[in-house]
Amino acid sequence: MALTRTRRARAARKRRVAMGRVEHDLSDEQWTALAAAWGGCAYCGATDRALQRDCVLAISRGGRYTLDNVVPACGPCNASKCNDEVTAWLRRKRLDERTFLLRHLELRSELARGAAVLGDAAARIGERE
Ligand SMILES: [Zn+2]
Repeated sequence: MALTRTRRARAARKRRVAMGRVEHDLSDEQWTALAAAWGGCAYCGATDRALQRDCVLAISRGGRYTLDNVVPACGPCNASKCNDEVTAWLRRKRLDERTFLLRHLELRSELARGAAVLGDAAARIGERE
């Protein structure tokens, strides 16, 4: 029994170390602002589905949960894109690659400008509720 506990503790520690090596710094505020700024699924534009945090550059390709790399995606888009490279996937799905990339760039720099923008977005969400 003691052995099981030790082994489990060791596995948990290994997992923590592995996750610790990757820097995920997207805060809840940033996510809220991102979702508000996109106003729907970043890929297909759906506004009637729950949005999930999708890494534009998949974790398996070195991407992280950061403001630069996360966009809101609906369930079907998130599941379909999975670990694919984003532009190839967009093209395959016949989604508007150019519009996505431009908007992604635009919102990234807008949101990176900081707290004022985040505050505005949070306020907009507040009004909606
Ligand atoms: Zn979608």
